[in-house]
Order: sequence, then C-alpha cells, then structure tokens
Amino acid sequence: MNLSRLALSLGQSATLKLNEVANNLKAEGKPVIHLGGGEPEEKIPRGALEESGKLLDAGFVRYTPTSGTAALKKEIAAYTEQYYGVKPGPRNIVVASGAKQAIYNFLVSVIDPGDEVIFPAPYWVSYPEMVRLAYGNPVIVKPRDGGLLAKASDIEAHITSRTKAILLNSPNNPSGQVYPEDFVRRLVEVCEDRGVYLLMDDIYNRLVFDGLKAPSAFAFSKKPLNESPIVSINGVSKTFSMTGYRIGWSVASEALTQAMIKVQAQVSSCPSALSQAAAAGALREGGSFVDALRDGLQKKRDVMVAELAKLKKVKLHKPQGTFYSFADFSAYEPDSKKLSGLLLEKAMVVAVPGIEFGLEGHLRLSYCGAEKDIIEGVSRIRKILD
Ligand code: PMP
Ligand code: GLU
Repeated sequence: MNLSRLALSLGQSATLKLNEVANNLKAEGKPVIHLGGGEPEEKIPRGALEESGKLLDAGFVRYTPTSGTAALKKEIAAYTEQYYGVKPGPRNIVVASGAKQAIYNFLVSVIDPGDEVIFPAPYWVSYPEMVRLAYGNPVIVKPRDGGLLAKASDIEAHITSRTKAILLNSPNNPSGQVYPEDFVRRLVEVCEDRGVYLLMDDIYNRLVFDGLKAPSAFAFSKKPLNESPIVSINGVSKTFSMTGYRIGWSVASEALTQAMIKVQAQVSSCPSALSQAAAAGALREGGSFVDALRDGLQKKRDVMVAELAKLKKVKLHKPQGTFYSFADFSAYEPDSKKLSGLLLEKAMVVAVPGIEFGLEGHLRLSYCGAEKDIIEGVSRIRKILD
C-alpha cells in the first residue's frame, strides 16, 4: 500500500475506537458497561424532529449554501447573543458537519506547515491529530502539582513566532473542569496583544453545574467581532443530545469566516439540509431542554463522585460540568492503557485511558449513561482494584 506519511503517522481516535469496542461487545451479548461514552442518552428536542420532518414532507432536500441555511444562522446568531453576549451576522457564521469539522476548517485556514498550536492538557483526544492533519505542530502545556488546570502564564510562555492559535475547551473534556474567569481574561489579552487566534471550544458551555457559568471569551475582548482573534465553536451534539445529526458551527471575524467557507466548500459542500433544519428546531425550542439535560447530568455527576469516593486510592477533582470525570488511578496502576485494558478484560467496563488526553495515570469515566450503569461499573472497578 502506498499511503501518505500523514496518513501513516495519524493516530486513531481513542474515544471512537472504544465506542466501537463497547458496541461490538454489547452486540455479542456480553455484559459490558460503557463508561467511555461521549454522548447523552436523552431523546432529542421535539422541535428538531418537527423541523426535519417538515423538510422531508416537502420533499425538498437539496444542497444548502456552503456556510449554512439562513434559518439556522438566524437561530445561531440569537443563541450566541443570548449566551455569549456578542451578536454575529450571517457572514460571521459557518455551519459545519459537527464541531469537529468546524475546528478542522479553522486549523486548515490558519496553519502553514510547521506552525504551532498551543493547548493545555488534559485535552480532547482529537486536538493533536487535527493540528497534524493541517501540517501544524501541537504544543501541549501540562498543569502543575497534580491539578487539572494549566496556568495561563505557562501557556503564554510557550508562545513563539510560529504560534498561530491557542485552543481552549472549557468546560473541559475530559476533566469536567471550568477554566476560571482570570484565566480566560488573560488568554484573551495575550491573544489580542500578540496577534494569536484563540479558539474556544464551547461545545459543553451550557452543561455546567451548581449554578456556575463557564466564562465566555467574548466578555473580555476589547475588539469588535470582525477584528477579534476569538473563534467560538459550538454545536448541537452535546447540549441537545443530537450527536448523530452532525451539526456544529463557528463564530468568527468575517475575514476568517470567508477562508473557512472556502475550505468547507472544497471538502464537503455543505452540512446535511435535514440536519440543519433539525438544529434550527432544537435551538428555537432551546432553554428548557438544555436545563433539564444539565440537571439530570448534575445528579449523575453526584452519583459518579459518590461511587468513586468508595475506592480507597482514587483522587478526583469534582467535575464542574460536561459528563466526564477524570480521576487519578495512578496509585493502583500508573499506566492508564494497561489499567483500561485490565478493566475491560476483568470487569467488562470500558474506560478511556488518561494518556489519550495527555495526562497519564488517569481514567476518563463518563456519566452520560444510565445511573445504574455508573453504580455497577464503578463497583466492578472497585472489586478488581481494592
Ligand atoms: N470538541 C470536544 C471537546 C468534544 O468533546 C467533541 C465531541 N465529539 C467535539 C468537539 C466534536 O463534537 P461534534 O463533532 O459531535 O459536534
Ligand atoms: N467527544 C466525544 C468523546 O470525547 C465523542 C467521541 C469523539 O468524537 O471523539 O468521547
């Protein structure tokens, strides 16, 4: 086989691979408990089904404009204004086939070969590989002293003449932590001063617990959107439980947005018309669906925290949002891939190794599934380890 160096060097998505492992074992009738998942199990908003149904009834399912339908962009603009305090125009938005594609559009639009993109660990599994796909170099900044949040000054210290962007995902997959206001403010200041893009992966932005809010980078910006280095990525996968619809989007300056549209036009033309209609329906229905989802996840977070506390040697920073916990299991086994393999083999529990997120010794355990699975899954882990 004559494959490219890029294809040969690319790692697999650990999360998607483990999803497959869990689903295959389930299909074989094995009593597997999937604590490695990354999608809520709730039904999607009624409005989403209705809107896509209307389009199907009309039999008019065609290409849409590359950057998305006017109807969905209108909803995204209203949503962004409500939750981020900035009102984008239609020329500031690109609707993509998932937040993943929106991030890719961005990276390809700003990276020249060898440029650097900085992000803190723990990071979402796909960031390093996506940066490499755009021929860039990922630069990873680890937290200190056993914490889960890197320091803004450490990130700043890694900026070089090759730095094109800083990526921040808050609330964070996998840690569930929310980066504090001072941290976000500092990154905005640094990016505006140094001419570096700040990509905010806001995909879990409304899944924050205990009345907390994840700070929006736009709140600290001194520049209007069209001069801003801030790019906000969002979508319906997590907050509206619509992972299979594959709708995400970016909000950015017009100049950057036009470049991202060119990329998308050559790669995928436009996102699915049906899915865009569904996403518009979900956003219109909005608030109450997300509030209920968040409240349910907060209860499951509490169950996960209580169950993990029963293990003698686990260290956990209580998650503040998302549906992931990221616990330190290094006192049992420092090699997280080995531990994840052991738990699958001996306990039939799927957990994602921390090393896939750039922090060894941890496991990511999700609480987006059924409460009984959280309890049974962690209790099986406890039987093996304690
Ligand atoms: N960013 C983060 C941090 C995620 O966890 C995910 C989940 N897959 C994505 C982006 C991509 O989401 P999607 O492509 O499903 O919109
Ligand atoms: N974001 C989810 C996760 O981290 C879904 C899988 C993926 O897209 O990587 O598990």
